[in-house]
Amino acid sequence: MSLVLGVISDDFTGATDLANNLVRAGMRTLQVIGIPKTDLTLENIDAVVVALKSRSCPMSEGVNISLAALEWLQDQGARQIYFKYCSTFDSTDAGNIGPVADALLERLEAKQTVMVPAFPANNRTVYQGHLFVGDRLLNDSGMENHPLNPMRDADLVRTLSRQTDHSVGLLARSELSAGVQTSWDHLERLATQGVRHVICDTLDETDLATLAAVVVKLPLVTGGSGLGQALPAEYRRLGWLDIVDQAGRLEPASGGALVLSGSCSRATLMQIKHFLASHGGFALDPLALAKDETHIGHALDFARQRLSSKAPVLIYASATPDKVRQAQDQLGAAVAGECIEQALAIIASELVADGVGRLLVAGGETSGAVVSALGICELRIGDQIDPGVPWTQAYLVGKPAPLSLALKSGNFGGVDFFSRAFEVLL
Ligand code: ADP
Repeated sequence: MSLVLGVISDDFTGATDLANNLVRAGMRTLQVIGIPKTDLTLENIDAVVVALKSRSCPMSEGVNISLAALEWLQDQGARQIYFKYCSTFDSTDAGNIGPVADALLERLEAKQTVMVPAFPANNRTVYQGHLFVGDRLLNDSGMENHPLNPMRDADLVRTLSRQTDHSVGLLARSELSAGVQTSWDHLERLATQGVRHVICDTLDETDLATLAAVVVKLPLVTGGSGLGQALPAEYRRLGWLDIVDQAGRLEPASGGALVLSGSCSRATLMQIKHFLASHGGFALDPLALAKDETHIGHALDFARQRLSSKAPVLIYASATPDKVRQAQDQLGAAVAGECIEQALAIIASELVADGVGRLLVAGGETSGAVVSALGICELRIGDQIDPGVPWTQAYLVGKPAPLSLALKSGNFGGVDFFSRAFEVLL
C-alpha cells in the first residue's frame, strides 16, 4: 500500500516522539532529518516523519521549509499531512504555528484544519480551549519562562489568533462528547463561517479517539504527538493501512555497545550513577578538553579496551550543576557546551568506525551533534525502551549492518535506562 501519513515536525525530538506513537499504534515509520536530497525506498513504510528545525527560526524560513517538506511528502503519495508541534504549543506571537498552518492549508487547497496539541498520557490536556500541563494552566506551568518561546497565555484560541489573520474557533468538549457526527457538524458549521483553524478540547484517550474519527479525512491535521496514537486505528478502519505484526521490528543488532552522555538533567545523572555501579565509565572534563588535545584520545583508549568485552561502555560529560557552573565560568556556557558536543561527536564517529553497532546518546543537543557527525539522514523507528524513547536504526555509508541508535532527551527514561536499553534490543 502507498504512504498513508506524511508528518512535518517543527523539531527533532518532537519528531521521534510522534514517530514512536505511530509505531506503537501499528504504523511502520521512518524519520528523516530534513528534506531528503536523494530518492528513498518507502516500500513497507506507512508513515514518514520529516524532522525540521522550524519552531524558533524566522517565520518566513519556517514557512518555506515546511512547504518544501509538504511538496516532498506529496511526491511520495502521502494521503494525509500532519503538522507536528509541541504539546505545550511552543510558539511566539510572530509564529510559527499559525503561519505554517496557513501556508500548508493554502498549498493543499483545504479550507480548514484542527489543532490538537493535547497529549493526555503526558498530562497535557485542553479544556474550553485552555491548555493545561498537569493541573496548571500553560502560563503557570514553567513554560512562561521558556528562553525562546515563553507561553504567557493558556487560551489557545486567543494565542493562535495573534499568529494568523484567519478566524480561529473551538471544538469544545460538549460537542466532542456528543460524538463523531455532532463534532463533524460543528466543524462544518464553523467552516461556513470562515473559521480556518479549530482548537480542539481533549481531556483523555476517548476524546483523542473521537477526534481521530472526525479528522481522518481532512487533508491536514495539526497537533502534538497525542493524536498520532489514535489516527492509525482510523486508517485501518478505512482500509488505508494493513495490519502488521510488529511495526517496530528492526534488523538484528550487532557490534559493540556504547553510551555517550552530554545531558546534565537530573534523570540522566541518576541513570549514570546507576550504570557506573556495575559498568565502566570515563568522565570527560570540559576544562581538559578545551586545553588538552590528548583528552579525547584517553577517552577513546578507555572505550577501545573495554569494547572488546561485550558489556556497554559509558563516556560522559554530564555533571552536577555546581561543576557545570565551574566549567561555564571558566570557558563560557556556549564554548563549554560546544566543546563537549564536538568531543562526543568525534568519539561517536571514531568508535562507530571501529565497530560500535549499538549506540545510546543522552541529551537533545548532544544527539543532534552525534547524528550530524555520523551523517545520518534517515532513522527507522523501532520499539520503545521507555516512554518517548524508541530504538531506531540507520544505515551508514560503507557499513553493511545498520547502526542501532537510541536518542534520549534529558529528562526521559527510568533509572536503569542505560543498561536496560541494551537488554531489550534484540
Ligand atoms: P538535555 O537533553 O539534558 O537538555 P543537551 O545535550 O540538550 O541535554 O544539553 C546539555 C548541554 O550541556 C550540552 O550542550 C552539553 O555539551 C553541555 N554540557 C554537558 N556536560 C557539561 C559540563 N560538564 N559542563 C558544561 N556543559 C556541559
